[in-house]
Amino acid sequence: MRIGYGYDAHAFAEGRKLVLGGVTIPHPQGLAAHSDGDVLIHAVCDALLGAAGLGDIGQHFPDSDAQYRDIDSRILLQEIVLLLREHSLGISNIDSTIVAQAPKLAPHIEGMRKVLADDLGMHLSRVNIKAKTTEGMGYIGRAEGIEAHAVVMLEELQPGTLKDE
Ligand code: MG
Repeated sequence: MRIGYGYDAHAFAEGRKLVLGGVTIPHPQGLAAHSDGDVLIHAVCDALLGAAGLGDIGQHFPDSDAQYRDIDSRILLQEIVLLLREHSLGISNIDSTIVAQAPKLAPHIEGMRKVLADDLGMHLSRVNIKAKTTEGMGYIGRAEGIEAHAVVMLEELQPGTLKDE
């Protein structure tokens, strides 16, 4: 078994769509980013790469590369799923938390779970997403941005495939 942790934060920006967990959420502002700014998917990507010992999202998809401009983060997630498959790693489960003062995320959680479960080829019961506020404290509380955390467990389908160096 291999455990990975991922974290991401993005600032709100005018004139952008708010995309979280692959779901477009009605809100006056979106998140500033080179990609679509999907903090939840970015945190999940980093958790998956972390568990696999394969670095982080910025190393695989550098924001200096024009091909990733405004890219749908689901494409990055799907590429990481292929990478894990190449390394004979299966995903056991994912737990995650989005921290946002606004908008209200509860109505969108099930939609996000379905997106993640689809892209990861996992049963819905193995993908969990929680939403919290900070009760008005700090930069999240002032609605300056949104952050996300994710923890994953991977299973080595063929033990020893990832070489110890
Ligand atoms: Mg990010």
